[in-house]
Amino acid sequence: MQLRIPGPTPCPPEVLEAMGKQMVNHRGPEFINMMNDVTAKMKKVFQTRNDLFILTGAGTGGLEAVIVNMLSPGDEILSASIGVFGKRFADIAEAFGAKVKRLNFEWGKAIDTDVLRRELQNSPNVKAVLVTQNETSTGVTNDIKAVSAVIKEFNKLIIVDAVSGLGSIDFPVDEWKCDVVVTGSQKGWMIPPGLTMASVSEEGWKAHAEAKMPRFYWDFTKAKSFLEKGQTPWTPAVSQIYGLQVGLNMMLDEGLSNVFARHAKVAQMARDGVKALGLSLFADEKYASNTVTAVNVPENVEGSKLNKILREEFKVIIAGGQSNLTGKIFRIGHLGWVYEKDIEQVLDAISKALPKARS
Ligand code: PLP
Repeated sequence: MQLRIPGPTPCPPEVLEAMGKQMVNHRGPEFINMMNDVTAKMKKVFQTRNDLFILTGAGTGGLEAVIVNMLSPGDEILSASIGVFGKRFADIAEAFGAKVKRLNFEWGKAIDTDVLRRELQNSPNVKAVLVTQNETSTGVTNDIKAVSAVIKEFNKLIIVDAVSGLGSIDFPVDEWKCDVVVTGSQKGWMIPPGLTMASVSEEGWKAHAEAKMPRFYWDFTKAKSFLEKGQTPWTPAVSQIYGLQVGLNMMLDEGLSNVFARHAKVAQMARDGVKALGLSLFADEKYASNTVTAVNVPENVEGSKLNKILREEFKVIIAGGQSNLTGKIFRIGHLGWVYEKDIEQVLDAISKALPKARS
């Protein structure tokens, strides 16, 4: 089976083996040593000295955690959205009572920093800006360095959904002054779903001190006091953390720049390969993602039929489009444990399945 959706992604056998280990006491020394090691290594990949939490939950849980820890009901915030996940982030903030200004960019395009600057000039009361590093629904990666620089011209808090990009695409969190950054385990981290990781800067802690949104499970004050003892407030997903330790060791052994280069290479292969088959990319190629490639379904092809043929005849699993893009695009995930041979197999399967999927 060739699983090429943008998460969950395949896991190396070493990770799966580690996850099958016996439980330990999550208040005991083995766990504490492991948690301290994993947190330190995760910070290396985030390229941050900020506090960093490894929490048990889906990526969406991580997004909710950062919203409720940073904001109060009635706070005005700006959402700069480029797709489904940008909208979800804004919806979460709204659900907890934030006043959300929605700056929506055309799907397939990245954030236009001139438009963002203009919006911020007209939004003196905005407290924080929500952005997505890598919009999985459209296959677009924002230039977070440039986006953050604009947001910091106005001294606003920047909160980034980096669920499907961090660990695969270079994102030096401290250098780019990103206050709060969230990712999820089933993406570039080569482990199954179940963990979400979030970093918090000093500015983030200042916002947290004033934030009044209701929270209990996700409370970062509690998470911080427990992390100081190498623990988590609630029983953590111990097996995922076994897996994460192995995954992080593999990433750091490979070297971060090599991990990013490998993703860039397989992504370029995917883009070149689909174009060579006469297909076109959905995303503005200048901002095309190195973790997921979105491809327009040609007019005479039925997207769902193509995916079915790929799955049943070629054992290749790709993703369809989400929301308004259902049936209009298909997406190839290439993040985490992925090499050139995987993309070759996917491209070969698509070339054979396409004629069969024509109506
Ligand atoms: N944000 C982005 C950019 C994502 O790609 C995803 C998942 O695909 C999420 C958030 C939500 O993560 P989860 O499905 O783990 O809740």
